[in-house]
This record gives sequence, structure tokens and C-alpha cells, in this order.
Amino acid sequence: MSLAIVHSRALDGLHAPPVTVEVHLANGLPSFTLVGLADTEVKEARERVRAALATSGLDFPHNKRITVNLAPAELPKESGRFDLPIALGILAASGQIDARHLSTLEFAGELSLAGELRPVRGALAMAVALRRAEQPRSLVLPTASAAEAALVPGITLHAAGHLLEVVAALLPADEQTPATPLPRAEPAAAIPPTDPGIGDLQDVRGQAAAKRALEIAAAGGHSLLMVGPPGSGKSMLAQRFAGLLPPLSLDEALESAAVLSLAGHFDVGRWARRPVHAPHHTASAVALVGGGSPPRPGEISLAHHGVLFLDELPEFQRSALESLREPLETGRITISRAARRAEYPARFQLIAAMNPCPCGNLGHPRHACRCSTDAIARYQVSSVTVAPSARQN
Ligand SMILES: [Zn+2]
Repeated sequence: MSLAIVHSRALDGLHAPPVTVEVHLANGLPSFTLVGLADTEVKEARERVRAALATSGLDFPHNKRITVNLAPAELPKESGRFDLPIALGILAASGQIDARHLSTLEFAGELSLAGELRPVRGALAMAVALRRAEQPRSLVLPTASAAEAALVPGITLHAAGHLLEVVAALLPADEQTPATPLPRAEPAAAIPPTDPGIGDLQDVRGQAAAKRALEIAAAGGHSLLMVGPPGSGKSMLAQRFAGLLPPLSLDEALESAAVLSLAGHFDVGRWARRPVHAPHHTASAVALVGGGSPPRPGEISLAHHGVLFLDELPEFQRSALESLREPLETGRITISRAARRAEYPARFQLIAAMNPCPCGNLGHPRHACRCSTDAIARYQVSSVTVAPSARQN
């Protein structure tokens, strides 16, 4: 067979739309062409696949004209996630593995030059997409990515550490050596239900009014702005806020983990915990809401279903705070860049803190405030008007 079809998935925001990798071998001038809107990293796949096949002792069809098509063409594709599907397509088209097995499987994985499988970004998003698919196929992932994808219930998942392990599972029936099935990946055992990293509000002495306000904010899903002099315990209270929120449902936990996995921030130990993100006040608007090319999620999306804590609120750039308006109202953020557009979920609870005046001593029982009335008014107004949704909520 000179044409092989391998199934994989791209990443588009939090979605993982299916991608078909078609590999065609023909006689003619030897070449290796990749088509289907692939960025540089995917184009580098040619060199990685060629080397990985050679070092693994597999045949690379050097005397053939190889065409690899990643379809649909209009879908943006990035990173080395298609290395494994491309390598398997070449092996199937050249008869080194049984192409019939490929229709029930989906693959993603970056290859090292020695044929080892390297983890891919967004494995969890792939697994979630597969769970919702009409005809769910089994998913084959690098071992390092399989652990997070295994958190998704109801899918069949296999893990492999090397290209040869995948090849061994797909050998043609007439070979001398029988095919060795890939091991099933099991979800990480015993996930702790509570987060030891988050303190408990009951450990805080006094602060009855602030605690009450936090409880009301947690119960009603309101944003909250705490104003007080330095050292009055604003940060300590805010860090304990996530402990008041109810446990994440399975869908919420999956969504939260999928966003973190896209940004490469997810680790299995943090499964089903409400994320708390506290970006520094020097954070740019892009760091806060997301951006870049391809668009990556920002702090507000990493805090999805969790808490975004902005300490020193007036010190944040005005543009950064303005960009919080849309997500605070809609729970989503759309990032548009020249060629790409991505939408990420951003349903976070905003907890902000600020000093009462630029020097911080206004209303302090022992220290005198050195600020002018004008300076105080400017400071308070600027911070309160830039985040109106926070005040209304
Ligand atoms: Zn002052």
C-alpha cells in the first residue's frame, strides 16, 4: 500500500479538532514534502522522523517521493505533536506496519532523533475531545503525557516511551514476531481531595469583618476589593479564600486541568484543586489575559474555576486592568492575533487588595500618612474605576 492514513489532533485554543495525516509514497525524484499549513516546527518533523526511523533500525524509503498532507489544511498546526503520526504513516505506506490497525487509533507525540517519544502540550485537551467524539478511537500518547490524559474517564489510552514500542504493537500478522500490545495507561492513584497548600480561614485570628466579607464573596461568587494598610493581613486572607470554595466537579476539574495543560503548568498532583494565581503587579496585559503567537492562555485563564488575586491593584498597568472587563462579564476571553484567533475560558473569582493611599498609612493608628488629599483621591479613584465590574459584582 502506498497511501496511509493516520489520525491525530491539533490544538485550537482549548479544542482539539481531528487532523488526518495522509502519507503517500510514489516513484519519482526522491523527496519529502509536508503540506497543509504547517508551521516551522512541524516542518522540522521531516528531519526528526527521518533520523528517528534510521536510528530505530526501521526503513526510511529514501528512493521514494514522500508526500505528507495534514488535513484539514485551514486548521493551524504547531509543535512536534505530528512526528509520531507522520512516522507511522511512512511505516504503514511502506508496508512495515499493518495499516488496518491505524483506523481505530489516534496518535500524538514528538520524536527524538533516537526515536524516543517526547511529551506533547495539551494531552488533556486531546483526551477530553476524544471523550466527546462520536466514534471514539483509542489514544496513543508518550508516557510523559499519558498520565494527565488518563485523568479523563471513559477513554481507552495507551502509553509508549519509544517509537519501536508503537511499531511492535502494529506489526503485520504474517511477521515472525507477534505484535506486542501497548500497555494501558492508568490514572494516577490516590489523588488527595484537599489542598494542603491552601491555609484555612479559621487559622486567622480576629479580622471578623474581612472574614465575613470573604465568606459572602465565596458564597455569592462576587469579586472583592480589600483596602487596608500594609501588614493588615490582606494577602494572607486572600490566599485562604480558595479554601472556602466548594470542590470542583469532574467537568470543572477537567476544564481547569486542560487549560493548565495547554500552558504546560499542569501536574497530576494538582488535579481537582482550585487554582490560585497571583500575578505580580508588573505583569503585562498579555501575561494577564493571554496572547502571543500562537495565542497562549494568560493568568486569568490559568485561574479558570479558581481565584485571581491582584495585590497592589493600583500598581497594575491600566491597560492590563482594562483587559479584565470582558472576561469578568462573560467568563471567556477571545485573543485575536494576525493569523490566529483563540478563545479560552476565564471564569475566575477576582480578589484584589490595595493600600488606602500611596504611602499606605492612611487611617493607621500609629503611623502618619504623608500623602496629599489630591494624591489619595487619584490613587483610590484610579484603582476603583479601572475595575468597575469588580465593584458591581
Ligand atoms: Zn498616605
